[in-house]
Amino acid sequence: MLIASESLWYAQTNTYVIAPEAGRPAIIVDAPPDPEAILELVARYDLTPTALLLTHGHIDHTGGAGTVVDRTGAMAYVHPDDDYLTLNPLEQLRALFGMTPEGDFAPPRQFEPLVDGESLRLAGLDIEVLHTPGHTPGHCCFLLQNSLFSGDHLFAGSIGRTDLPGGDMEALLESMRAKILPLADETTVYPGHGPSTTIAAERRSNPFLQGLS
Ligand SMILES: [Zn+2]
Ligand SMILES: [Zn+2]
Repeated sequence: MLIASESLWYAQTNTYVIAPEAGRPAIIVDAPPDPEAILELVARYDLTPTALLLTHGHIDHTGGAGTVVDRTGAMAYVHPDDDYLTLNPLEQLRALFGMTPEGDFAPPRQFEPLVDGESLRLAGLDIEVLHTPGHTPGHCCFLLQNSLFSGDHLFAGSIGRTDLPGGDMEALLESMRAKILPLADETTVYPGHGPSTTIAAERRSNPFLQGLS
């Protein structure tokens, strides 16, 4: 499996491009507001994106989604509990910057709603959707074989913040206990920010996960 990534925008948000191999249909996980860089990454491996999976509705993960969908024809997927974020990019930008910066932050015109526990077959890959509320109500992680795309739920050595509107620490820890900690030790975790890690390493040394399982 090919997994390519890049950290983009001022928030250094990771976008991931996943495909069985170069030259094939692909999935994109998260679209920071730098669609040109995402499209370059796709072109570098001669990929054809057919799906854009959004872990959650924060602007640093979705701001490039409309442009990426328009330019590739990929279908966007997001959990409906994050619609209050996904569909309101300008409100989010104003809350962040006190103004609306230049650029096209429009969401895709159309979304497929993600459903907890569903299996999707996209670009020749099997993906399991894990709804992991806490950082936001509609946050989802995506499991592909032994790779977990964890968005802003789980980071190397840390967890997502829950002090933004819709955040809920109790829900985050319960999502972690019920859906993430039971995953196999050797599962590689690809977070929305920062370096990749493994479930074993996080179970052992992430201070926020101690005493959870
Ligand atoms: Zn976030
Ligand atoms: Zn983020």
